[in-house]
Amino acid sequence: MELSSDIVGPTGRPGNTLHPIANPGRTSDSPTLLLVDDDADIHVLVSVMLQSLGGTIHYAATAAAGLEMAERLQPDLILLDVDLVESTGVELLKTMRETPTLADIPVVFVTGNDSNEVLTACFDAGAADYVRKPFRSAELRARVRSVLENRRLVVQLQRVASHDSLTGLPNRSQLIDRLQQAMARSTRNPNYHFALLFIDFDRFKVVNDSLGHEVGDMLLREIAVRLRRTLRASDTVIRDCDFSLAARLGGDEFVVLLDEVRNERDAYDVADRLLSVLKEPYRLGAVEIVSTASIGIVTSHPSYTNPEEMIRDADTAMYEAKAAGKGRHMLFQSAMRTVAEDRLVLENDLRHAISRGELYLVYQPIVSLADGSLESAEALVRWNHPTRGLTSPDQFIPLAEETGLIVAIGHWVLEEALRTFAGWLEAGRGPRSISVNLSRRQLSHPNLVNDVDELLRRYEISPDRLHLELTENQIMFDPTTSLHALARLRDLGVQLDMDDFGTGHSSLACLLQFPIHILKIDRSFVASMCSGRDAMALVEAVTRLAQNLQIRVIAEGIETIEQLDILKDLGCTFGQGYLLSRPVDASRVLDYRLPDECGTVLKCREPESPAY
Ligand code: C2E
Ligand code: MG
Ligand code: MG
Repeated sequence: MELSSDIVGPTGRPGNTLHPIANPGRTSDSPTLLLVDDDADIHVLVSVMLQSLGGTIHYAATAAAGLEMAERLQPDLILLDVDLVESTGVELLKTMRETPTLADIPVVFVTGNDSNEVLTACFDAGAADYVRKPFRSAELRARVRSVLENRRLVVQLQRVASHDSLTGLPNRSQLIDRLQQAMARSTRNPNYHFALLFIDFDRFKVVNDSLGHEVGDMLLREIAVRLRRTLRASDTVIRDCDFSLAARLGGDEFVVLLDEVRNERDAYDVADRLLSVLKEPYRLGAVEIVSTASIGIVTSHPSYTNPEEMIRDADTAMYEAKAAGKGRHMLFQSAMRTVAEDRLVLENDLRHAISRGELYLVYQPIVSLADGSLESAEALVRWNHPTRGLTSPDQFIPLAEETGLIVAIGHWVLEEALRTFAGWLEAGRGPRSISVNLSRRQLSHPNLVNDVDELLRRYEISPDRLHLELTENQIMFDPTTSLHALARLRDLGVQLDMDDFGTGHSSLACLLQFPIHILKIDRSFVASMCSGRDAMALVEAVTRLAQNLQIRVIAEGIETIEQLDILKDLGCTFGQGYLLSRPVDASRVLDYRLPDECGTVLKCREPESPAY
């Protein structure tokens, strides 16, 4: 590790040059470190001890200088003295955590006092680790190396998690982040307007079904290229828009966010241009395809309170454009809101669903990839609607969330799942544990922990046999409340699983500070693992990061033997997916048998006795 010339002394002015910087470029092999310590001698000592790591170590003697250098250098890691001259390391770290550009930088404390109080204060403030003074070089190196490795994986994950692996465009979560920013800006400044264009390729399904997924993927990549190219020509097309973003939501659905539009005309101009660019013929290998696209437009309005509402309305307008003959754009109008009215009827029906006995549970097995044994079963709720028939949770859970009905439904699900599980235990067969999904509203509900505790006691189930699943977005919606509730659940002894990992739009670094036992890698990554390098990189990085943090991993949505094989090799602990089993009735869980082809891959040995 090189000593940096960029040394800020107690006066805040650059200090003497000790060594030239060997390699100012930032790569994962040459990390940039910042040491904040009032004892200048430490700088030389630490540099010598960390020499084998490569990279550069910068030095600041005071908290103020440390803050300024951290902002400017964006180091990979900060070594922070607990006792600074005019402040404390803990105070400095608290300030950093409140500064968005610094919040994710890992901090390792250095201290001569490793009493419980000091260490608790450090970890409460968000420290990644600590090292004792006087330093032992092996310990210092090992701790710094391990924190750097985790940081590298987190950065890699963040990049992959915000982009669509097929087209390289920003994905839904990044779009939502940007939309949130735009909405916040329009609330502050009523003269600022933006627009959202929802684009759907009119013949995509035909192409995909008749010419195969490979051609379908080529088509999607080419659409992405055209969108990017058109939006980049901002001087002629998008005139005054100084910012625009094209994202892929999934399938053939693309969205363009146009910043700083003056009125609807601006959005129409861009939509016209996109329609003409997208209908040019596509040469894909040996075939040529011609198709139009349909675009739904929505412009910013104070009545929108969240990004999903805007995306939903742009989607509705896109359907109207298709219904009116395709190859055109249509502006969203409130008269298109029959969808919304439909939801009101559904909401009313949902209110009575529990009391009328219309809800029931199915269970999807979760299997150990080490030996094929049945680890858990995820309870998934179904609604048998009197006129609509079987209604998928994707249709009614979001509605139940919005209306608050989810608290009652969630309680019913938890009780029903535990009652069923108690029956399995009594039968002496079935999975070792049971997994239940929780919603954001349940997590922030004051009765949650007591309810869980009471139900576990009532059915005489040991808490470590219950997994509660939560998504990143649910946890990050209100991190303070979540942390409190999760800590209480952990203290109760239940297992906490992070569901659909990789699809959220939160800071992964912060997230890892929550007491999570298991990560469930979202099925979209498992699905594109064999075709997209990014998806494979994410799965690999998550598994390694989890191993470093001693968190177990469940891979969701395993549909092929090839995926199963790769995931086992990567060291994923558990798997779930149609290949292993679709969600089934409670009685069929008891008779679960691993499909023969999976047994061969997992080299399954029959358990000699039941799994518990
Ligand atoms: P989730 O927790 O990620 O559940 C997994 C979903 O993936 C289930 O869909 C399951 O049927 C589906 N799935 C499993 N393996 C595969 C596969 O190999 N391929 C494919 N294409 N899909 C697979 P489902 O039952 O429609 O549930 C959707 C979501 O609804 C769940 O996602 C969960 O977030 C929510 N949900 C379901 N039941 C409950 C509940 O009781 N409470 C709450 N709060 N949410 C629930
Ligand atoms: Mg789940
Ligand atoms: Mg999931």
